[in-house]
Amino acid sequence: MNCPFFKEQQVKYCGAAGYRKMILLDGADTGHERCSGPFHTECSVAGRAGSPQTGLADTAAPVCPFLRQSLVQYCTAAAFQKFVPASEPSLLRCGRPAYRYCDLYRTTVPVDSFRSAGSPPCCSGLGGQEARPICAPLHLDYAPNHMWLDRTAPGHCQIGIDAFLAGVLGSVEQLTFLTVAGVCQPWVVLTVRGVDLHLEFPRRIRISAANLYLRAEPVRLTADPYGAGWLFEGSTAESSEPDVPLVSGSKAASWVSEEYRRLDDYLSRQQQPVTSGHDATAGPALAPTAPLEHLSREQMLSLFSEFFSTHEIGRR
Ligand code: SF4
Repeated sequence: MNCPFFKEQQVKYCGAAGYRKMILLDGADTGHERCSGPFHTECSVAGRAGSPQTGLADTAAPVCPFLRQSLVQYCTAAAFQKFVPASEPSLLRCGRPAYRYCDLYRTTVPVDSFRSAGSPPCCSGLGGQEARPICAPLHLDYAPNHMWLDRTAPGHCQIGIDAFLAGVLGSVEQLTFLTVAGVCQPWVVLTVRGVDLHLEFPRRIRISAANLYLRAEPVRLTADPYGAGWLFEGSTAESSEPDVPLVSGSKAASWVSEEYRRLDDYLSRQQQPVTSGHDATAGPALAPTAPLEHLSREQMLSLFSEFFSTHEIGRR
């Protein structure tokens, strides 16, 4: 399954020129072109270069012997068309279902195109005491530790974190991939305020790519969790153990709403001031968003374990 902007075409170029300018054959006007006819002998570049075989100018050839053809690949959505020598399309993201997570693709097509055919739009609602808006796209499935899985094509999948987890994290300083290939449970370490938080997808997949760009720009993880913040690309892998059940997109709104209520209850039970300078005698001061940014190290680890640890999921 190729990206609709991905193209393969024959190009022609001059093998004698110092700069290799490629011209698409499709639509090229070869009838009035010197290289493709007998007038190539008048070309100063060919004259200086001589015959590729003998080093002498080849006046008998019907087309210039330096005229070359090649198959190239390029993106029609890019402002500047860069031709690259053709290779197996599936080696590029443009030739795999993961093309839907390409930044250029996502900025070029309407948002509706990201959903599976026929699926309704992103569900919405309000969750918890703070009545936070819920964003949980219906075409995704959700792991109990708030990681999503997008079945981009039969056997192919993409993995990331949901908006609930992104909201709890607030901002991530550093992101470390502990798995980048092979059959395993995809695993990253998120560093928030100097604390390392381990996040593991509860199912094994065959990882084919990790979004290593997030190491340079971790803000994308929480700023765009369903798009540029994706974490892993892969294919489903056979497992001898029963799979952890996922929450389908159609049930995600009520589940996330319940999770917000659970989060509010959890923070209330902490009975700790969560902002510096808060009067402890005044009772708990709940942070409406990004609670991790206001908790102590121990509280952060405890909250993260309660809501986002795969071990805690197994225990529940
Ligand atoms: S670069 Fe992006 S938009 Fe262009 S062909 Fe590849 S996946 Fe599609």
